[in-house]
Amino acid sequence: MNQKVYEQYAKLAVNVGINLQPNQEVIVSASCECAEFVEHIVKECYEKGARKVRVEWSQDKISRLHMQYQTEEVMSEVLPWEEEKMKHMTKVIPCRIYVDDSDPDAFAGLDMKKVSNSRVARYKVMKKYIDQMENKDQWTIIAVPSPSWATKVFPELDEKEAVEKLWEAIMKTTRLDQGDAVETWEKHIAYLKEKSEKMNALNLDYLTYKASNGTDLRIKLQPNHVWLSARETSLQGIEFSANMPTEEVFTMPKRDGVDGVVYSTKPLSLQGQLVENFKFTFEKGKIVKVEAEKGLDVLETTLDMDESSRYLGEVALVPFNSPINETGILFSNTLFDENACCHLAFGAAFKNNIKGYETMSEEDFKEVGFNDSVNHVDFMIGSEDLEILGYDFDGKEHVIFKNGIWAI
Ligand code: ZN
Repeated sequence: MNQKVYEQYAKLAVNVGINLQPNQEVIVSASCECAEFVEHIVKECYEKGARKVRVEWSQDKISRLHMQYQTEEVMSEVLPWEEEKMKHMTKVIPCRIYVDDSDPDAFAGLDMKKVSNSRVARYKVMKKYIDQMENKDQWTIIAVPSPSWATKVFPELDEKEAVEKLWEAIMKTTRLDQGDAVETWEKHIAYLKEKSEKMNALNLDYLTYKASNGTDLRIKLQPNHVWLSARETSLQGIEFSANMPTEEVFTMPKRDGVDGVVYSTKPLSLQGQLVENFKFTFEKGKIVKVEAEKGLDVLETTLDMDESSRYLGEVALVPFNSPINETGILFSNTLFDENACCHLAFGAAFKNNIKGYETMSEEDFKEVGFNDSVNHVDFMIGSEDLEILGYDFDGKEHVIFKNGIWAI
């Protein structure tokens, strides 16, 4: 792919994504496979006045070896220097850019119990630091094609062609092919904001989902919920865009307010393994039954990681005619697939989806039934005949989605 595209995407991530301010620090998480692109990100950060940029490199094949050979005890260890690093981060509040290029089933066939258990153990130690940074930092996730991911998406092509073709799709879905990327994004952000404001004005009590695939679900919304979209504001008062691409308008479901059945409409890459054609049954907010044609094991292991993983943390509205879906490509990457159609997420909710979250204490969050979890897993449920109705507190019905797309 040509350097111009790298440059544009890097500009977008730094200027619109994290919206870097002079003298801020940045941590970039990326794999070595996309080092050439990461160089553009680092350059753009410094040119925009970053005080310091650090890249945390990884590589799927090496991560796989660690998971395969280390004992659960070793994988669960949090060493003193790791805690010191987190402590330091709570003081500096660096911006974070995640460059995702992972192979959707890089960890297929591994002992996922061991991996999950060690993640839970590490999370217990790290949580106090994560909580201190939550909502204070600007962060963004972008994706670039690695050969291993690209050849999974386009198995009929050779490596070079597959990477090229995936870049083209990324350009289209991130609107990098429509002239000035930053300007195009400002328009897109304004469009999504208009939708989230309409949803907020309705102040709904609950939503119902119906589709011909069998989905029949009722989701009560958190009282005092706020619908958010592409642009969020950190507690430091700095605006940022957490996902690129993004098409979603999202909020918080009420923890114990979900009942019915929902069918997945796209495969899910979960902890490096693919889960396909699955179905959840909910009772009083809890996933009480799970069925899947493929990947049931990893799905159940993930749901069992903690009590809250079986409850929803996010409801997101994305029209079925989004540019991502219109490419007709199954990306097998959450960043793209979650922005292709409506989705839900099981596990952790987002605190900023509650009105007045800025002044709420941990106790307050507990009291309102905030779902806190080691997981936050988006799964896709949108289809071309999905109908979503909203009901306000007077019992008045509003058509929100008809035939899979926005009706308001
Ligand atoms: Zn989402």
